[in-house]
This record gives sequence, structure tokens and C-alpha cells, in this order.
Amino acid sequence: MSSESSTANEERTQELLESLAEIRLRVEAAKVASSSPTLVAVSKIKPASDVLACYNDGQLDFGENYVQELEEKAKILPTDIRWHFIGTLQSNKAKTLASIPNLWSVQTLGLIKAATALNKGLPDERSSSLRVLIQVNTSGEDSKSGIPPLTTLSDQEKSEIVLLAKHILTQCPKLRLEGLMTIGSLELSLNASESEKNADFETLKSTRDVLDAYLRKHFPGDESKWGEETSGRLLLSMGMSSDFEAALKAGSDIVRVGTGIFGQRPKKSIPQ
Ligand SMILES: *Cc1c(COP(=O)(O)O)cnc(C)c1O
Repeated sequence: MSSESSTANEERTQELLESLAEIRLRVEAAKVASSSPTLVAVSKIKPASDVLACYNDGQLDFGENYVQELEEKAKILPTDIRWHFIGTLQSNKAKTLASIPNLWSVQTLGLIKAATALNKGLPDERSSSLRVLIQVNTSGEDSKSGIPPLTTLSDQEKSEIVLLAKHILTQCPKLRLEGLMTIGSLELSLNASESEKNADFETLKSTRDVLDAYLRKHFPGDESKWGEETSGRLLLSMGMSSDFEAALKAGSDIVRVGTGIFGQRPKKSIPQ
């Protein structure tokens, strides 16, 4: 990792470390007492040298949206980085994605087919299961991917979330259902009042609670098979640069911050 091209210059390094420190402080200030949320630094479109500068400051969790870009970065960057895939997941790219040894999680699972492909693509020599989060379309916008939320009134046996969760638990031994993720409404996160923003977060939380109750009821004795390894809780991944503090106050476990750490991306990459 010592070649010229993989090292950020001093000015850029300084800038990144300041932003990272500020975001870390804001995460600490906004988090629910006694929780320890994960800050995922979203490095899509940004050079490997930026990732390395943050890594050298102790940042281990990074998020990427494009399989090829992730594959290239993972090859040249330290192998103890925890890569989170947060982009649109195409089943035909699942094998490539699954073969990245230090892929930590896939947060954008929405299809049974993609779960099957990931499970199949994971190499036998991989020591841990791959954490997956089901992406929920909490805002109901057509432009957002993800599957509809779950309520106590839903026909649970037929709901896409329950079907996908059951598929993971019963058919995908190499996957671990770690939790749920939402992007939320972009319009809302930019313009809306606090309470409007919170609607997406509340929807994801209640979906998690309904799913948790469903799984406990239908898979008694199997509680160790889903949720975070240490706590057994189904985690919530919600909150980005513009709304991560509100998300943390609402109980988010994983926030995904790109712009706030790395600065603006070229327009063409937004939204993803
Ligand atoms: C790009 C992206 C982020 C980071 O967005 P910022 O607004 O730059 O913080 C978070 N989550 C997902 C799914 C993304 O695609």
C-alpha cells in the first residue's frame, strides 16, 4: 500500500480526517445512550487513497454501491476492512460480490433470487456467514428499490419480507439475516420537518418489530440464527449524511455517511 497513487496528499488527508472526526462526534452526540452504532463510510466513486486515509485513522467499515468498483478496491486495500455493499444488487453480479473475501454485509437484499445467488456464490473456505439486510421501501416511492414494509395488519404469510426472511433462514445456510435497511425518501430528507423525516425511520422500526415477533413465533429455538451475532437483535440500517442524527435518535444501529466524510460526488451518481 505504499505506492504513490494509493496515498492521498497531505491536504486531502487533513480534510478527510477533519470530516471523519466531525461525523464521529455527531454520531456520539446523537446516539441513544448505551448503544454503539456502526458508522459506515460510504466511499463510492471516491479513490482508494481516500479510503486508506480513513482506514489509517481507525475507520474499518466502508460502503460501496458498485460491484466492480468494490472488487477493484478490495483487491488493493487492507484485508481487515469491512466492506458493506449498499448498491442495487443484480443477481448476475452476486457471484462476483460473494467472492470478495472481506465482504462484511450486503444491505440491499430484496429478491429471493439474489439471496440464492449470493448463498451459492460464497466460497466454501469463507469462515463466517455473510450478513444480509433486507431493503425496505419505507417511503413507498416507485423510484426506490426495496420491498414493502410489514405491519401487524399485513397478511404476514404472504408478505415479501416474511417470504424472503424464511427463504434466508431455511434455504441459505451461508447467509445470516442481520436486519433491515432503508434509504427513506430523498425529498423528505432534504426538505422535510423532523417528524416527517421520522416517518420512514418509524416504519422501519415497526417492520423490524413485526418481523422479530413473527420469527420468534415460527422458528422457536432458532433465535441464534438471525440478528447481530453478539446481541441477537435484528439491526436497523437507516440514516445518511442529511439525516443520520435523526435516524440515530430513532434508534438506528448502522448509519451510512458518504458526502459528510468524502465531500460531494459527481452528479451522475446521485441518487443511488
Ligand atoms: C450513496 C449512499 C449513501 C450515502 O449517501 P450520502 O448522502 O452521501 O451520505 C447511503 N446509503 C446508500 C444506500 C447510498 O447509495
